[in-house]
Amino acid sequence: MNEKSSDVLIVGSGIVGMATLMTLEKYAIKTSLLTHSKNIKNNLPDPRFYAVTPGVKNWLEENGVCNFLAKDLMSPVNKILVYSNKENSALSFDAYDAGMSELAFIINHDDLEKAFMNRISKISYDEIKIDGAESLNIEMDHVDLVNEKGQKYQFKLIIGADGSDSWVRRESGIEVKSKTFNQTALVFNIKSSKTHQGCAFQKFMQDGILALLPIQTHEYSVVYSLNDNIVDEYKKLDDLAFLMRLKKNLGEKFGDIDLLSKRQYFPLSMKINESLISERVILMGDAAHQVHPLAGQGLNLGLRDVIEFDALLNSHQNYHHDLGLKQFIKKYNRNRKTDILSLSYLTDQLSHIFYSQSRIMNFVINLGFNKINQNHLIKKILIEKAAQ
Ligand SMILES: Cc1cc2nc3c(=O)[nH]c(=O)nc-3n(C[C@H](O)[C@H](O)[C@H](O)COP(=O)(O)OP(=O)(O)OC[C@H]3O[C@@H](n4cnc5c(N)ncnc54)[C@H](O)[C@@H]3O)c2cc1C
Repeated sequence: MNEKSSDVLIVGSGIVGMATLMTLEKYAIKTSLLTHSKNIKNNLPDPRFYAVTPGVKNWLEENGVCNFLAKDLMSPVNKILVYSNKENSALSFDAYDAGMSELAFIINHDDLEKAFMNRISKISYDEIKIDGAESLNIEMDHVDLVNEKGQKYQFKLIIGADGSDSWVRRESGIEVKSKTFNQTALVFNIKSSKTHQGCAFQKFMQDGILALLPIQTHEYSVVYSLNDNIVDEYKKLDDLAFLMRLKKNLGEKFGDIDLLSKRQYFPLSMKINESLISERVILMGDAAHQVHPLAGQGLNLGLRDVIEFDALLNSHQNYHHDLGLKQFIKKYNRNRKTDILSLSYLTDQLSHIFYSQSRIMNFVINLGFNKINQNHLIKKILIEKAAQ
């Protein structure tokens, strides 16, 4: 039996896993990274663009990730217009009004992932690749990871950053509540004949929620969260018919539009964990929470898990000898709860309200939009919350 050990094992080398690795290295904590040996990614470029909040972008800058991101790969958003299609009511959020220079930055998944890969290539860590069934055996003062060949690795703390179908969550027995939205996100890029001037749009419609994130001067990344009962209809449309339908849904505002990429589909669901921790285990990113993309917050939430972990490592150096101690991981659980629960609740309720076909609900939405739009204080509070 071959024994290898580090202080911490991170399971999952997605963006959140890599961010956690960088953070631990900052405090000279010996870390291993468990990566998937099976190639589960398709070869298509990832069409997702993330609206990264100013708070998260600051952390990426301070921690050297932005050194690997060319400036033109991060498109600033200075205005957001939110429409209800019911009676043309709209809500507008302006960076200038909120005393901010930008509301968010739009970054493509593959560009951000590459920047993280370059960043972690500069640091030293052990990479573990496992092919087959492995298990986690949680003991009083350590956790053993055993692979199918019987090799054993020993750690003080396991961090599950292994996505929404987390193996670490299952192995550690953390209960999770899942909810399917019966919606699928259709993601693609378009070019518009009109410049966007840094304005993002969101339109709540009968077929679903249409979000347009400004990327290059005339280009948008589009996330169309469609009700499942209509997805098949959209899938059957060829590019031309699809463009016609999109133009009709978008209205005149965008002028002529062209499709710039393939259309890709992501089924949407929500997951809330009963806890982010169990004995010597903590969860981060989509392993810890999965939310509807309508507010563009899933990755931000995951990176805020890492930012909180960073702050705790900084302020509690007396736990560095054993980060699996209950007292330490409980602080992480407590400090992350409110942000995660409030955002999960908000996105769930919004998706529910806006898919409602009830006339009373539509009336309330329009009234609410108009009232909020006139209230500068509420808008400022909403923007400050969204910019964290
Ligand atoms: C359509 C859409 C649009 C979105 N838009 C936004 C947005 O605008 N803003 C935003 O903030 N968020 C957005 N999100 C959410 C965002 O994509 C996710 O929150 C984020 O990608 C989660 O990152 P992660 O690293 O936690 O998980 P993942 O990206 O799922 O990474 C998990 C990693 O773990 C690996 N893994 C899994 N199991 C194992 C195992 N057993 N052993 C080893 N490795 C394993 C996987 O291979 C993967 O590399 C969007 C999501 C969707 C679907």
